[in-house]
Parts: sequence; structure tokens; C-alpha cells
Amino acid sequence: MEEKSRLNVLNIGALDPSVVDKLVWTGYLKGEFSIKAAFEGIRLKRNKVRWRDMIWNNYVPIETAANAWKLLSGAAVVDSVVQKKGVNMESRCYICKKEEESLHHLLWDYDFTKRVWKWLSMKFRLRNHYTSISEICKTAQGRSPMIKQLRGAPTVGTLTTLCGNLGNAGLGATFRNSFRDILLVIWRKIGVNMNYIAECLAILESVEMALIMNWTNLWIESDSVAVVASLNW
Ligand SMILES: [Zn+2]
Repeated sequence: MEEKSRLNVLNIGALDPSVVDKLVWTGYLKGEFSIKAAFEGIRLKRNKVRWRDMIWNNYVPIETAANAWKLLSGAAVVDSVVQKKGVNMESRCYICKKEEESLHHLLWDYDFTKRVWKWLSMKFRLRNHYTSISEICKTAQGRSPMIKQLRGAPTVGTLTTLCGNLGNAGLGATFRNSFRDILLVIWRKIGVNMNYIAECLAILESVEMALIMNWTNLWIESDSVAVVASLNW
């Protein structure tokens, strides 16, 4: 059968040879390819979590939101997560040295974290202090958008600051004299830890090292405002 008659059978008009073929992306109605459409096409769609709107909004910086999302989704290299992946290991929280190291412990349950959440809930004049993200969402339920924003942004900020970039951490310091000569560089692994703890340890161990070297006239610089404030310098 000739091509023309085949097309007639299918009730399709003859192809116009002057029209050039082009690729069409079927994942998007307009037929154009975009990264967003590709992402939407392949991503696994799950139920929305309760804390979604507290994190992804216009008043939480995107980087903070991404870190909070990772923490609340359990994406952090803490002992309990490593154990769940089948690694048989002992676990002890590096900070309090009492409990097993888990995200729940680090974010909500150890003494310092509890004090921080208690302080924050006092600032918002809440009767109970926060013990989980669901509880925080509950307190914001039915509130005005402004109240949600006022509570949500500091809560997400506190959450990410508490855990910082939790992961395999190391501390380091460089010692220089007043002529800018480098006298000594120290560096040490400190296991899975928070950046806040790593910064504090770096300062304390640097001072100890300086005293061992008999360098007593010290000028200390740190890039963490939280650490400088906590040491009251
Ligand atoms: Zn602990």
C-alpha cells in the first residue's frame, strides 16, 4: 500500500514535507523541556508533612529551610541512623556522654537543647515548652499568618543552629605572631558533631596549646558570633 493511501485509511492527512521535525517533551503541556518539569516527572510524590509550610515559605532563607528539612527528614550522620543502615556499633552522645546519639536526642532531648526550647517558648509566652516539631506545629494551628511567621522563622533558625551542619567534624587553628608568621597549625578529628561545639573546642584547645607553648599574650579570632557571645568575650 502506498504511503498516501495508508494515511487515508488512518484518516490522517498527508505529512507536509516542508515542516521540520522537532523534539517534544511530553512531560510538560507546552512540549518544552525544563529542569522543573523533569524533576516533577521523576520525583517520588509523598504525603505532605505537617511542618512543610513552617519551613518552605518566604520568611525562612532557602539554605536554612533546606538544612531544617534534612534534619526533620532524618538525613544526618548520627549513630542511630548509621545503626539502622546495618552497622553494628556502640553509640554514645559526644556532648553529654550519657545517652545514645540520635537526632531526637540532639534536637529535643538533651539538657542544653531542652533549655533552648524552654527559653524560646517562654519568649512566645507558651505554657508548655517544645518537645517535637509536631508540638510546635500544634501551637501555631489556627493562628494568624503573622503569628505563624513570628514563631516559625525563629523556630526553624533555632533548629538548624542547634544541629548546625551536623556531620563528621574537625577542629583546627592557626597560630601567628605579630609579624604574621605562621608558628603552628593544629587540627584534630572530633567525630560526628555540631559546628557550634567544634568552634568552641577549637578555641579552648588553641588556648591550651598556646599556654603549653608559653604564648600568653593572645588575640583570638573566630568566625562564629554564637561562640564569641557564649564565651562572653
Ligand atoms: Zn547527649
